[in-house]
Amino acid sequence: MKLTVIGGGLAGCEAAWQAAERGVEVVLHEMRPILSTGAHRTGKLAELVCSNSLGSNLQNRASGLLKAELRQLRSLLIDCADASAIPAGGALAVDREQFSDRVEDKLTSHPKIDIIRQEIQTIPLSPAILATGPLTSQNLSEKLLAFTDHEHLFFFDAIAPVIEYGSINFDVAFRADRYDYDKINEGDYINCPFDKDRYQEFLNALIQAKRIPLQTFETEIDDGVDAGTETYFQRCQPIEVLAQKGERALLFGPLRPVGLIDPRTGRRPYAVVQLRQDTLTGDLYNLVGFQTNLTHAEQARVFRMIPGLENVKFQRFGQMHRNTYLAAPKLLDNTLAFHKQPGLFVAGQLSGTEGYAGNIASGLVAGINAAHYLLGKPPLQLPVTTMTGALIHYITHAEIKSFQPMKAMFGLLPDPDQTQRLKKIERYKFYAERALTDLDNYIKHHLTT
Ligand SMILES: Cc1cc2nc3c(=O)[nH]c(=O)nc-3n(C[C@H](O)[C@H](O)[C@H](O)COP(=O)(O)OP(=O)(O)OC[C@H]3O[C@@H](n4cnc5c(N)ncnc54)[C@H](O)[C@@H]3O)c2cc1C
Repeated sequence: MKLTVIGGGLAGCEAAWQAAERGVEVVLHEMRPILSTGAHRTGKLAELVCSNSLGSNLQNRASGLLKAELRQLRSLLIDCADASAIPAGGALAVDREQFSDRVEDKLTSHPKIDIIRQEIQTIPLSPAILATGPLTSQNLSEKLLAFTDHEHLFFFDAIAPVIEYGSINFDVAFRADRYDYDKINEGDYINCPFDKDRYQEFLNALIQAKRIPLQTFETEIDDGVDAGTETYFQRCQPIEVLAQKGERALLFGPLRPVGLIDPRTGRRPYAVVQLRQDTLTGDLYNLVGFQTNLTHAEQARVFRMIPGLENVKFQRFGQMHRNTYLAAPKLLDNTLAFHKQPGLFVAGQLSGTEGYAGNIASGLVAGINAAHYLLGKPPLQLPVTTMTGALIHYITHAEIKSFQPMKAMFGLLPDPDQTQRLKKIERYKFYAERALTDLDNYIKHHLTT
């Protein structure tokens, strides 16, 4: 029997690969390029819609630990990300085109995977995996709403602008990585320094700038969650929304100057906008933390007030989008299958995992579980001491009233008595070592046959 996977994004591609590698015939349905989501820009599989960074690569960071585990579990997408990596300090940032191309090449050349470009408008029969992401098509969203007896939530999130490297004014901007004081005019990041007066002018303009009104379907009240209240990912709030929280909100957030010295003044700037490389060739950079819903004209006007970006050329403006996810703790069991339809699994943002690496992780788990379901093998039950296991445990057991998509974080891991006296850095090291050892044992006992 064939496994249907709907959605060729991060989670769907990982899930399809994992199932196919276990000998299952997979049919992967992706609606792009026939129908786009509004945020995706290409017809490629596994497109990164916003940042080109998959987060930290350091094992004593939650996201770095998750990636280390995914490497142990032989994740295709992390493998492709590693192969497409570009310099980004301790983070795993990729050339987005190369990354997508690598994933697509792997899937199209796999003998067990068939890819069909088509929008699926109905809930599939089992065995299947729903991995249609935060921008699930309107037709399928409506079916999901009915299928889940209106337990289907949604909210909003925004993407950052991308600019041309050649248009940055290096008489003002300088290269430096935070806290790397030894290197002058070197580093992966480009920094645009503000003094206090220019920061104030910029802040006022940002708060007053014109925003794009929400689409009708985005402002409808759905299941008691009023989209007009504009609930965003905490980590991905539009810069203008963060700015209006108070004069210092940006100074402690994306514009924090700590760890940076302007080589021209020898002092720490009042505020700093950081630019991160977006492509391997280094011709494009994105404005870190500048997800926005301003109109394009206002983005051009206000962001050119940033020192060093006076004449900047925009390759892509920021945007804001609908974001869809299910009430997973109520609807899904710990294999990521629906209670009401065994054999129908959910993966990615739709299941309530968050962040690129988190969505790859739930794709991997759903893919293996769907394969085991078909092959009559016991489901994957990763130890909750691992970041992957803890994430899946959280989304399937969390308090439903306050449930929101969850990314990797150390707070999800059980905290045995022995760590209580340890300093934070030692505690994280302990968590990481314990997770990787427990995962290694689990793989040896449950996944090698
Ligand atoms: C605008 C935006 C910006 C984001 N920025 C970041 C970020 O910077 N960093 C980060 O870590 N996370 C970010 N996220 C969150 C999340 O990590 C990404 O959205 C991630 O791509 C989700 O993975 P996924 O596999 O669940 O969905 P996707 O990668 O979106 O894949 C879903 C796929 O399903 C397809 N599809 C949808 N409906 C259908 C249908 N009916 N039939 C067939 N195919 C369908 C879509 O075309 C898409 O290719 C962002 C989310 C959004 C919406």
